[in-house]
Amino acid sequence: MFKAILVEREPQPYRASLKNLDESQLPAGEVTVRVEYSTLNYKDALAITGKGPVVRQFPMVPGIDFAGTVDESSNSSYQRGDRVLLNGFGVGEAHWGGLAQLARIKAEWLIPLPAALTARQAMAVGTAGYTAMLCVMALERHGVAPGDGEILVTGAAGGVGSIAVALLSKLGFRVAAMTGRPAQADFLRHLGAAEILDRAPYAAAGKPLAKERWAGAIDVVGSHTLANVCASVRYGGAVAACGLAGGMDFPGTVAPFILRGITLAGIDSVMRPRPDRVEAWRRLSRDLEIDRLELLTEEISLAQTLERASLLLAGEVRGRIVVDVNR
Ligand code: NDP
Repeated sequence: MFKAILVEREPQPYRASLKNLDESQLPAGEVTVRVEYSTLNYKDALAITGKGPVVRQFPMVPGIDFAGTVDESSNSSYQRGDRVLLNGFGVGEAHWGGLAQLARIKAEWLIPLPAALTARQAMAVGTAGYTAMLCVMALERHGVAPGDGEILVTGAAGGVGSIAVALLSKLGFRVAAMTGRPAQADFLRHLGAAEILDRAPYAAAGKPLAKERWAGAIDVVGSHTLANVCASVRYGGAVAACGLAGGMDFPGTVAPFILRGITLAGIDSVMRPRPDRVEAWRRLSRDLEIDRLELLTEEISLAQTLERASLLLAGEVRGRIVVDVNR
């Protein structure tokens, strides 16, 4: 038997609860992993609460990421005892996920746990931190370098935002952190933000072009915020867009693209090809200060994910939540 969060909708209503499941209930797969840590990401919170159409098959064990040790493998790439990590690939959405003591998945979805990170540290980073790294890599690929000017991070006190702030400042960028929670200003400064901005002015409809201010930006909010970010990026700059915490619409104009030559880079972490995943985790284990990671991490038990999910969606969680699935 193993403990897991299970999401069910038959009989109605939609609900998530802590269950004891039998190993024979695990889905088919080549590798069985003893999960040590998982995390609570935005998508996991949607799956647990049912507030977004994340779960595509029922019953479902949520949890889009996990780190642990291989227990059994029928694929020669992995042996019992190997330390592994998983992000995305529809795990926790269409295939049972990481908010459980055991997971069974395809070998090709796993990557080795970077040697410099423990399972707990890797999950403190989690899909949010891995996505933040993909955003930073996108800005670098589009030529944004420290010394070019300030980088704006929106949703800065959340999971992706807080790790983006920590990463960018460690890499030598000057970071402006945009937040709706002024009480988190000290937290964001500790992570390396040089400036704290109120998110309210960016949340309403703005002009097609605003004063050129940012050399680059990482946006997790979408909607008017993303449109205003694009409108205020300097000539030739780039924006990495990965989220929709403020809305899925994009009420902008083409003006920043055709008059200032800016680039909007879309970031998807779920189906990202393996070489980029390995590179993002290599960079994370090199470029993220573990002390800063601790500062932004809170650890909870499997059962506590149930109440934390609503708080996360209400924007009341700071930084990252790591889940010890064995307590
Ligand atoms: P969190 O909930 O931890 O952080 C989101 C932050 O966005 C909040 O902390 C808040 O920051 C800000 N925010 C929330 N609601 C609003 C609003 N209505 N208007 C403006 N700002 C708002 O989530 P994550 O950081 O884990 O994820 C952020 C987004 O990125 C989500 O939309 C998620 O789905 C997406 N994502 C996408 C991935 C991909 O592969 N593309 C992978 C991972 C995440 P503050 O309080 O500082 O204002």
